[in-house]
Amino acid sequence: MTQTLTLRRPDDWHLHLRDGAMLRAVLPETARHFARAIIMPNLVPPVVTAADAVAYRDRIMAALPDGMAFEPLMTLYLTEHTDPADVRAAAESGLIRAVKLYPAGATTNSHGGVRDMDKVRGVLEVMAELGLPLCIHGEVTTPEVDIFDREAVFIDTVLDPLRRATPGLRVVMEHITTADGVAYARSADDLAATITTHHLVINRNHILVGGIKPHYYCLPVAKREEHRLALRKAATSGDTRFFLGTDSAPHTDALKEHACGCAGCFTATNTMSILAEVFEQDNALDRLEGFTSLHGPAFYRLPVNGDTITLTKGAPVTYPSKIDIGEGHVTVFDPGFPLHWTVK
Ligand SMILES: [Zn+2]
Repeated sequence: MTQTLTLRRPDDWHLHLRDGAMLRAVLPETARHFARAIIMPNLVPPVVTAADAVAYRDRIMAALPDGMAFEPLMTLYLTEHTDPADVRAAAESGLIRAVKLYPAGATTNSHGGVRDMDKVRGVLEVMAELGLPLCIHGEVTTPEVDIFDREAVFIDTVLDPLRRATPGLRVVMEHITTADGVAYARSADDLAATITTHHLVINRNHILVGGIKPHYYCLPVAKREEHRLALRKAATSGDTRFFLGTDSAPHTDALKEHACGCAGCFTATNTMSILAEVFEQDNALDRLEGFTSLHGPAFYRLPVNGDTITLTKGAPVTYPSKIDIGEGHVTVFDPGFPLHWTVK
């Protein structure tokens, strides 16, 4: 007997599309299943101003194959020089849906990020007034802090003081990886958290045991099993504060399989199949739609999508192990277990 599951069309609340040939190759992988995505602004150079966001949105739409529908939800990369008036105008016109805070040096192309939070206070106050979410890559970058502790330390030493200094600021804790992140996200109504597909599947053993696995290396790095289980519980709980942000982050194999390999897992292609499997394993298939399609729009104050997708369960499905981008290949995330659900 075929099992089917129909959901409101999902959105991805954290996505890297890059630019140029990479953008053209990976965009259909997301647009095939997802109606909208929050587009990360960490290009080189980053998307800092409203004018940058207009130009990037136009390049994304030009890269979309004929016959596919997709709405990029643009963001600005917060710098110490960001102009509050530019942010206000971009938000009020509907051009941008969030601003992204990268602590300087935290991840790919984040060297232009923020070092001194006092320098962005004016922007944060405008955002609090408008209700515009601040998406935060929540890791400290000080070398004394162990990489596995960076998220928990960030919450205590940066995020909590930042929120106290700017009352009313709405924050999305991006790609949380720890039980500490789950607990903090639950602590206030103006907080939410995205969870990636891969952090529901892998822990740090997957990266390091039996030889280093560069395609499981991402930032924030996967943590201990107890943290993965906390993320699973949060994602499948039905709590509206938690929703999908895949952080699908393509790099060519040449840059991943390297002496200094890039951080990122590419999950756009098979995310819906993996999530259906994960939610089924946790007896929570009835909560998948909330996680992928309802909680995100609610936090972002956007309507849910009008149409639906249907998944069917059957014999194991396979996906291409790599996407050809012309100037190399991008490896598709391997969850390490068979996938039985496929989007019709
Ligand atoms: Zn990211």
